[in-house]
Amino acid sequence: MTVRPIRNMVNHETNELFFENLEIPTENMIGQEGQGFKYILDGLNAERTLIAAECIGDGYWFVDRVSKYVGERVVFGRPIGQNQGVQFPIAESYIEVEAANLMRWQACTLFDAHQPCGAEANMAKYLAAKASWEAANACIQFHGGFGFAHEYDVERKFRETRLYQVAPISTNLILSYIAEHILGMPRSF
Ligand SMILES: Cc1cc2nc3c(=O)[nH]c(=O)nc-3n(C[C@H](O)[C@H](O)[C@H](O)COP(=O)(O)OP(=O)(O)OC[C@H]3O[C@@H](n4cnc5c(N)ncnc54)[C@H](O)[C@@H]3O)c2cc1C
Repeated sequence: MTVRPIRNMVNHETNELFFENLEIPTENMIGQEGQGFKYILDGLNAERTLIAAECIGDGYWFVDRVSKYVGERVVFGRPIGQNQGVQFPIAESYIEVEAANLMRWQACTLFDAHQPCGAEANMAKYLAAKASWEAANACIQFHGGFGFAHEYDVERKFRETRLYQVAPISTNLILSYIAEHILGMPRSF
């Protein structure tokens, strides 16, 4: 096995792995032969729900941080958080994170009941990644220049939460899944 580390923009240990001529003993087989891909996909529903939860945590973190900051930052004699132009994007982010959280729990409930949960797991991941990214944008915007300063920690979370538009499944492929498997449209690739 060859391991090639990939340095990247987020705090995530990432490596490219190459397996050459690897033989796996029969007794190590999981489940039934020929069903492997289905097992992998089933496992991915848990991963998507988990990542949704991670994004939701990020989303609450951003909303919490920025809500406090705009209450403390005073410009022209009043906190910037008194302006509705500042309040509304933050309030909108909070609503979207809460909505994503409901879909996350729906996916968890189905998964725990051993019911199919592909749609809910994908939709939870989609909503949560989008909500956390919107919250990240509001958070960095309303920290002004300090949003870019390491000491506030916002720029780090901003970079980290951007990942979830791409991995572990890109937003586009979730839309494709919903279009094809839930709405019955023809497969595009
Ligand atoms: C930090 C990090 C950690 C990772 N960790 C893991 C891991 O632990 N395990 C693992 O298996 N993978 C991991 N990945 C890989 C990750 O899952 C993939 O990068 C991701 O699924 C996107 O696949 P790709 O890079 O092959 O993009 P590509 O398939 O090359 O697609 C590129 C972009 O084009 C668009 N696109 C592609 N196909 C279509 C289409 N049919 N319709 C519309 N748009 C499309 C999407 O926007 C996509 O983001 C990780 C990636 C990163 C960045």
